[in-house]
Amino acid sequence: MPKNQSFKPKIFHFSICLGAGREYVHSCVEQEKYNFQWNSERMNLKQNFICATLLCFGILLPDFYLGHLIKMLSCTIPLNTLLGVAGLAVALSFVENRKFLVAVLTFLIIAQCIQLNHWAYFGAPINSHDISKAFTEFEEIFQAGSAHANILWPVWLSQILSVILIVLGILRTKKCRHYHFAWVIVLLALAVNPLLFYIKGTPVFHTKPISSTIHNTLRAFSCWIINSQATPHNLNYKPFQITYRSPKIKNIVLIMGESISSRYMQLYGYKEANTPFLNKLKGDPNFTYTKGISSSVDTLTGLQLFFNMVHNPGSIQFIQNKSVNLFNLARHQGYKTFLISAQGEGLFHEVGTQFIDYYRFKNDLLKSLKTKGDEALLDTLTELKFEDKNFIVIHLRHIHEPYAQWEKYFPNTKIGNPEHSRIQQTRNEYFHALSYHDHWVEQCISCIKKILPDNTIIIFTSDHGQLIGEDGLFGHNLMRSEVVDVPVWAYTINADTSLSTYLRNQPICSHYDLGKQIAKLFGAEIINPNEDPVLQFVHGTEIHTNYVFMPWKKTNDHAEFLKTRRVSLN
Ligand SMILES: [Zn+2]
Repeated sequence: MPKNQSFKPKIFHFSICLGAGREYVHSCVEQEKYNFQWNSERMNLKQNFICATLLCFGILLPDFYLGHLIKMLSCTIPLNTLLGVAGLAVALSFVENRKFLVAVLTFLIIAQCIQLNHWAYFGAPINSHDISKAFTEFEEIFQAGSAHANILWPVWLSQILSVILIVLGILRTKKCRHYHFAWVIVLLALAVNPLLFYIKGTPVFHTKPISSTIHNTLRAFSCWIINSQATPHNLNYKPFQITYRSPKIKNIVLIMGESISSRYMQLYGYKEANTPFLNKLKGDPNFTYTKGISSSVDTLTGLQLFFNMVHNPGSIQFIQNKSVNLFNLARHQGYKTFLISAQGEGLFHEVGTQFIDYYRFKNDLLKSLKTKGDEALLDTLTELKFEDKNFIVIHLRHIHEPYAQWEKYFPNTKIGNPEHSRIQQTRNEYFHALSYHDHWVEQCISCIKKILPDNTIIIFTSDHGQLIGEDGLFGHNLMRSEVVDVPVWAYTINADTSLSTYLRNQPICSHYDLGKQIAKLFGAEIINPNEDPVLQFVHGTEIHTNYVFMPWKKTNDHAEFLKTRRVSLN
């Protein structure tokens, strides 16, 4: 018994040891396996990181080189673009299907190739309606590109380096960790703009001249792919006839206001004193003013229509070809062109930024705009380097809603206690915002008199007017006469008075009329063979589609607005 008794525990002990040993060995193997897996996963993730970095640098290299380093293009790399491209590159590194990966990156390379060459050649990002030309007019483009190789070579160099980095990134993906559905994230990232189109409409496709090339490429190509902007090919408008003469005035300063309706200005007969400075100018022989009617009821289309001198409904070809674009005409006549805007660059889609020598937008002036309001624009104005002839456009933010925000920049006025009704409160705030505007105009004229004391004209209008409670309505965008009621005035400083004489004799001056008169000051006489002898037009907000427009005519010194109609694209 003792023998057995002493033996059993030994066997038991041995079996426990054996079991423990097995478990130990097993757990060691498991641990090794785990360590191996963990290390190989870590290695894979390291490869993902390298791959994503190569792709990210590859995609952003042209912006960095052409925009930041040699400043050949106006493009930049904003933080949101950097994060977006980095995110896309990370998602691409996890894609399992290499065919999908190669297809996406090939699309980006081709699209960027078209974008970069277009931007470098024309000076502005490509629009969707020009993309097809890259394929249909390839021979012509190739010839033009070859002739300008001495200018375009940095673009090509940046593209070659970009492609090398992207190819190295693709080669790395073999060793990367993969997720089965990573392609879905990539597809969703690329589909953001087309998806946003169904919520925000066509503005998601508008190009931005100081954003990144990839950002503009995705916008333009998304629009081109879903073909949302039908072009009225069949309206057959005849081209404008332009006769060039000597310029009449050397310095033309155009101020484009924001949301300013003349009917609320004391200058135009409003019962309370909110434009004391402008009112005083009434007796000044250098000052003339009249009632204006804007071409649109919204900022974005208003700027496109004004600067491209659009008259006839659906004549989008003049926005696209920019034959009578004011910046284009000014530059043709030897003017240096400037644009200083207190608003975002996105509003200048199709306004002709390729003909502007110097521009500053809200993002460039953010800090000073915040502390000084639109007077910050005047600081920028004083820093400009002028040439012999100058066309300067100042684009205001005031008196955009909320109107009360402008009070802090003009301490002489106090909005006071809240009113009982929304209409009264809004009118009160709008009234005070106009007081600030009058103060701004005083500062502006005084500033321009100092920096351009001779042969200068200041011209003012607003992009559109505003509803301040009429029929219980507020804001703009509605096709109503109140929304297109804008001021038009001019102030000459030792300069030709032909525009002043014109305005003095016009009880109403439309944006289209004003555009033609400004062209005359450049020495460009415009004849529009499509001009309706009686009617003028207020265009809707979606001018690239079969949009609604409102005809109007001058009757006994008043504008008579007719029923709205729709552009027929058939
Ligand atoms: Zn506006």
